[in-house]
Amino acid sequence: MWDWLRRLMGKGRSPAPATPPLPLPVIDPTTAPSQGFAQPYFRFFPGAYAFGADGEDVFRRETGPCHACGMREIHAFTGIIYTARQDQPTVCAQCIADGRLAKFLSEAHFSLHDAEVAGLDWRDPLVAEVQRRTPGFATFNAFDWPILDGLPMAFMGYGDEERWKYVPDALAAMRDGNEGEDCFPTPYALIFKQVDGPAWRAVFDWD
Ligand SMILES: [Zn+2]
Repeated sequence: MWDWLRRLMGKGRSPAPATPPLPLPVIDPTTAPSQGFAQPYFRFFPGAYAFGADGEDVFRRETGPCHACGMREIHAFTGIIYTARQDQPTVCAQCIADGRLAKFLSEAHFSLHDAEVAGLDWRDPLVAEVQRRTPGFATFNAFDWPILDGLPMAFMGYGDEERWKYVPDALAAMRDGNEGEDCFPTPYALIFKQVDGPAWRAVFDWD
């Protein structure tokens, strides 16, 4: 299913879109309704709004407007939308969370991640929740999104963040993922935690 994504990532020929996408709508920010900088919760990326101290922010407070919902005063997604579109639409956190972005793009296979959810059947709605309704973050390479007991784990941050010093479970997860060797701090670890559970895991994303 994600072969198209590999092609988009430059590992093969580019796919020819069946029909060219419609141009982005032109929205007057002075008459667009305000969204009040809504911050919907993403269970597979609970800290999405707190990212940004290191310039790796996922959302930025912007006037917008969002191309998908037409509203201004939004948390605009700063990451990459992997889609056949050549332009990068402005999209808000709310439209990612509630699936409106998927309708706007009217594409079955777009993704917000350079990742695969290989541990689940691609028809599982959880795959779509990760790929299309959870904001993406910068990685060096494509990675496999970890699954625990049939549920995707939640992305918590990168392995070089100071705060892990005080989270023994995160440090242990990095060690377990690195053949038992301590490796904190490392920018190559992606730290995940079980949703509503105590387990932690580190996925390595070598440059
Ligand atoms: Zn929107």
